[in-house]
Formats: sequence, structure tokens, C-alpha cells
Amino acid sequence: MERVIIIGSGPAGLTAAVYAARANLRPLVLAGGLYGGQLMLTTDVENYPGFPEGIMGPELMIKFREQAERFGARIENVDATSVDFTKRPLTVRTDDARYEAETVIVASGASARWLDIPGEERLRGRGVSSCATCDGAFFRDKRIVVVGGGDSALEEALFLTRFGSSVTIVHRRDRLRASKIMAQRARSQPKIDFIWNAVVEEVHGETHVTGLRLRNVADGKAYDLPADALFVAIGHTPNTAVFAGQLDLDERGYVVSPDGTMTNVEGVFVAGDVNDHRYRQAITAAGAGCRAAMDAEKYLEALEFKVDSLAPL
Ligand code: NAP
Repeated sequence: MERVIIIGSGPAGLTAAVYAARANLRPLVLAGGLYGGQLMLTTDVENYPGFPEGIMGPELMIKFREQAERFGARIENVDATSVDFTKRPLTVRTDDARYEAETVIVASGASARWLDIPGEERLRGRGVSSCATCDGAFFRDKRIVVVGGGDSALEEALFLTRFGSSVTIVHRRDRLRASKIMAQRARSQPKIDFIWNAVVEEVHGETHVTGLRLRNVADGKAYDLPADALFVAIGHTPNTAVFAGQLDLDERGYVVSPDGTMTNVEGVFVAGDVNDHRYRQAITAAGAGCRAAMDAEKYLEALEFKVDSLAPL
């Protein structure tokens, strides 16, 4: 029987692991096949305190992992495939194993959203991508389009200027959602241009992307834009499929937690982007992971106290 199982290994999961490990709970972290969460798909992280020169996302996550392991966290690079939170002990299954636990911390994060338009799925990996760091280098001297108006879109676009002959940001409104500093950087980068009030309706190409069908939402007119690559950066959806029917989820699929760590199931705690659609920062996820681990520890202490007080004198 595990004392704590942590599902997820982004900043929330691995911070929970550091705290739970330092509390001698020897947490088991089911880190996912691709451990490290969304920061594994980013480049420079400039706003994580403690790194005045910035740090690469993957390097930061390796440090998180090493820190958790140093204190005794056991980290398995496997996905949780199902859970049963309806009875005690809580159970979590992977493809190859079944684990029992007194507490579970759900920190499974969120994944990039797609546009769901014709051609997008078919040409994924052949010009359509959601990860500039993974795929940007394939598009040296090519015409790159990025969809979205948030920080992710601008970060991707700025990174892609290292490779593309041009980087065009297509945004559905006439104002960016991104932070001022990112907007300023993107606007002053000569390789970046913007197409405002437009949506991408279709990706053209047989074996690889050759162009996009755009529609101007102001006048309704559709037109083609030649392009070699489309990077989609339109936000995220929470990774909660395995918790459906087990935990209360809101209408967008995020785990509901009135106080930020407790779920509707006693002994199951939540942390990070899987529960937070407002802040979604590495630092806020790490803070939530810390809180969830401390609450799990308190919960376990309270359980022990209850058991002890029932023991015969
Ligand atoms: P986001 O802030 O939710 O922005 C998503 C963008 O995609 C919005 O501009 C949205 O348009 C657009 N969009 C959504 N659905 C669309 C659709 N179907 N078609 C076309 N456009 C669509 O998401 P994010 O950029 O991934 O950022 C998430 C969080 O991470 C934010 O808190 C952000 O600050 C943070 N972040 C920070 C950094 C950094 O500081 N360097 C880097 C990356 C992310 P509307 O504006 O019209 O809604």
C-alpha cells in the first residue's frame, strides 16, 4: 500500500513529490510516458524565480526530478490508465500494474488544443505542429504561420523566427491576449507579421502543408494563404479523461476544488493546470503541488491519529 501516489510530473507533480518525499512518505510518481509536463515543450523560461538568466524548460524539469529523487521519490515513466476512487484503498492502474494508495495527488496537467479543421490531423507531423521547440528546425527558410493571440502563440512565433523566412501570426480578434512584454517583443521582431480578425478553416496539402484557408471574421471573406507550416497555439485542455466519473469536473473538464487542493473524494488532492485555468504558470503549479502534498500529509496524520485512538489500551 502506497501512502501517496502522485499522478503527473510537471511542476505541480514534482513539487508535490519533493514535499511528500521530505515528509518521509516515499511518494510514487506516475510521471507519464512523456514526463515533465508542458515545460518539456518550451524553450527559455524567464519568469521562474531563482534563475535570473532564465533556464530552458526541459533543464528546469530535470532539476525538479533530481530534487524529488534525492529525497526518495520513486518516479515511473508510465501513464495512469484508470482509477477507482469509489472505495478504500484508492486504486490506480497503469498498463502493467495496479497500485493501492491511502492518498492520491492528481497533477496530470493540460495538453495543447487543436483547431479541429480539415487537414489538421492528416498533416500533423508534416507541417502541422503544436510544438515549436520540437519541430521548428524543420522549417528553415520556410513560411510559418502561428495561430493564437496568447503568450504561447507569441513565444512560439518568436522562437520560430530563428528558422522561418517569415512568421505570420493569425489571430481571431484585433487585440492580443498575451502579456505586454511578449506583445512588445513580437511587434518589434521584423520577421513577424500579423493577420488580425481571421480564423484558419482548412489546411491544404497532400504530403505536406502547402497553404491555409483563412476567413476574415469581420467581412466573412475566405482566401488562401500560402504556407509551409502551421503551429497551433490556442490554449489547453485539462488531462482528466481517466478521472471522469470519479472526480467532480467542471463544464470544461477541470477538476473542481473549492479550496484549491481538496477534491470531492476524501484523500484525493489536486494541483496545477488540471485544476487551474486562470494562472497556469509553472510557479503557481509548483505552489499548488506544495499545498497538495502538505494537505495529504496532514490527512495521513489525522488518519493515524484516528486509528491509534481506536486501538485497545
Ligand atoms: P491563452 O492565454 O488561453 O490564449 C489562447 C489564445 O488562442 C487566445 O488568444 C485565443 O483567442 C486563441 N484561441 C483559442 N481558441 C481558438 C480557436 N479555436 N481558434 C483560434 N484562436 C483560438 O493560452 P496560452 O497562450 O497557451 O497561455 C496559457 C497561460 O500560460 C497564460 O496564462 C499565459 O500567460 C501562460 N504562458 C506564459 C508564457 C510566458 O510568460 N512567457 C508563455 C506561454 C504561456 P482569444 O484571445 O480571442 O480568446
